[in-house]
Amino acid sequence: MPASHAIPIRAVLWDLDGTLYRQPPLRKRMLFELGKAALKQSPKKTLRMMRWLRCYRHVREELRDLGHADSPLESIQFHVPAQRLETPVQPLEDLVRYWMLEHPLPHLLKARYAGAEGLLERLQSKGIGLGVFSDYPVREKLKALELDRFFSVQLGATDETINAFKPHPRGFLEGCKALGWEPEEVVYVGDRDEVDGIGARAAGMRCLIISDKQTGPGFVRDFDEIGRRLGV
Ligand SMILES: [Mg+2]
Repeated sequence: MPASHAIPIRAVLWDLDGTLYRQPPLRKRMLFELGKAALKQSPKKTLRMMRWLRCYRHVREELRDLGHADSPLESIQFHVPAQRLETPVQPLEDLVRYWMLEHPLPHLLKARYAGAEGLLERLQSKGIGLGVFSDYPVREKLKALELDRFFSVQLGATDETINAFKPHPRGFLEGCKALGWEPEEVVYVGDRDEVDGIGARAAGMRCLIISDKQTGPGFVRDFDEIGRRLGV
């Protein structure tokens, strides 16, 4: 972790996707589910479905450059891809909500990182504040992961008070404010340095990135290592 190690850690703010659960097994499961759906519909409909989801994901990444938006991101994130695809907004929104938010829920628990629950219990018992800030809505996912009881702060980038995707620092700062601590007293744990790391550092927070591939002072492999780095 960076130089300010001597400042005590009062709280930990977490990313969700790819951080509290592993994404590869979930992606594999979703591909299987998409395959199952494809068997029940025309190839044309399947191709359209894939094209819409790909476009939505692509636009979501582009919208990071928007920073803190003037109008609600909750609606921009569907209007921009719908316009690009020359399709009505509602069916696109329904498709995204089904495949990216609702359908993965029953499969999340199986993909949860080993040691996540134990580490959160240890942090909580030491009085360390716990929160989640993600680019996507968090409540239903945290319930599905059976971890929601740990987090007093649960924020999404499209929440009215934030309205900025990472790496804009706004959501990170809102998270610290809601936890009641200064950014230098809060550690952010994420899985993408170019999004989570940049945003957390811009907000003045320390950061740990969970990764199988990257190594270095700010990177950790698993929850055992996160625990060691947080000193619990
Ligand atoms: Mg993530």
